[in-house]
Amino acid sequence: MAYTVPKLKEFSPAALDKAAERLLTALEQESAAVNTEADWKTFRDRWMGRKNGVLTQVNELWLKAAPKGAKRDVGQRVNLARARVTETVEDGKPKRIVGYADAGAANIGEVTVGKGLSAKVKLGSAPAVVEHAVDITLPGNRHPLGAEHPVIKAMNEILSVFRNLGYSIAEGPIIETDYYNFEALNFPPNHPARDTQDTLFLANQDSKPLRDRLLLRTHTSPVQIRTMEKMKPPLRIVVPGKVHRNDPPDASHSPMFHQIEGLAVDTNITLGDLKGTLDHAMKALFGSSVKTSFRPSFFPFTEPSAELLVSCFICGGRGKRNLEPCRPCKQTGWIEILGCGMVDPNVFEFVKSNGYDPRKVSGFAFGMGVDRLAILKYGVDDIQLFFQGDVRFLAQFA
Ligand SMILES: [Zn+2]
Repeated sequence: MAYTVPKLKEFSPAALDKAAERLLTALEQESAAVNTEADWKTFRDRWMGRKNGVLTQVNELWLKAAPKGAKRDVGQRVNLARARVTETVEDGKPKRIVGYADAGAANIGEVTVGKGLSAKVKLGSAPAVVEHAVDITLPGNRHPLGAEHPVIKAMNEILSVFRNLGYSIAEGPIIETDYYNFEALNFPPNHPARDTQDTLFLANQDSKPLRDRLLLRTHTSPVQIRTMEKMKPPLRIVVPGKVHRNDPPDASHSPMFHQIEGLAVDTNITLGDLKGTLDHAMKALFGSSVKTSFRPSFFPFTEPSAELLVSCFICGGRGKRNLEPCRPCKQTGWIEILGCGMVDPNVFEFVKSNGYDPRKVSGFAFGMGVDRLAILKYGVDDIQLFFQGDVRFLAQFA
């Protein structure tokens, strides 16, 4: 028989305790029978419903009906009962977990956990909530952390060496005009040095004057001119970026690759500064035991020009590794790293109006292929691997 709130005939403490005890026993029994959320809602409404819930009735039949002298005793027990009912209803709310009750099968079960340790598992037809449910037993999605691409990693390493020497980083456009890519760097129109650059020109430019025609920059050197137009000397910059040349892709060539250019201009820069700076940079990059050597070369925008070689950091300059010929240095014991030289006074003429009077300032410049350095540094045998996006290859550098 379901519990009903009795009318009290006696209001003695003993009679009140007995009535309260009956109420709480009924509360426990009904609470123990709650299994599903629907059960619980019925239970909650029966005990706490405003209109006709047990607590409301207790208020009416016990507290309001009590004679004046017994109000205090009744009040204490009613308050206690209200606290117990509220607590029991709150605690009894089933916590619904829907998932694979049996990991080995597709049995979707409803697991209802409530009231401490008592838990019930019902297997059978999937409840409607399943489509919104989270399967807490499945392993989570893994989101591996990304890492720097080896070319970017090498680039950052080189840049940080020069940043520590006080150089700032400058950047410029990849689509460049003929003026910045060639003319202002002392490649006059029809100069044979232009042929060495295998330039990719943008189509339909014939109606424009030559210096305004657009091309994909073949080196990062145009940023030298762009920066000198904006900033007065003294100047120390490094310029990282992508460059393009019409080279078919193979193990050591790519139509797109990366360069870092450097430029220092001041009133008294000498070839000694160039050699000292680059010798320091090479030791910082490849280890303090490497030696550097300069070999005369030619670039239109520097005079004199040189190639910088470092003693092979793979075979230690011996040209051989365990009696096998050392491939990276072609058994010479030296590896060519970059091109450099003193800025040609003709280049300063183009930015003379911004304080670069070739009779007053001098400077040096250098440029290196970052991909080639990454190949040497990480022992990679094909430049194409850098650009294929194969995670198995890239993960080795993470
Ligand atoms: Zn070697």
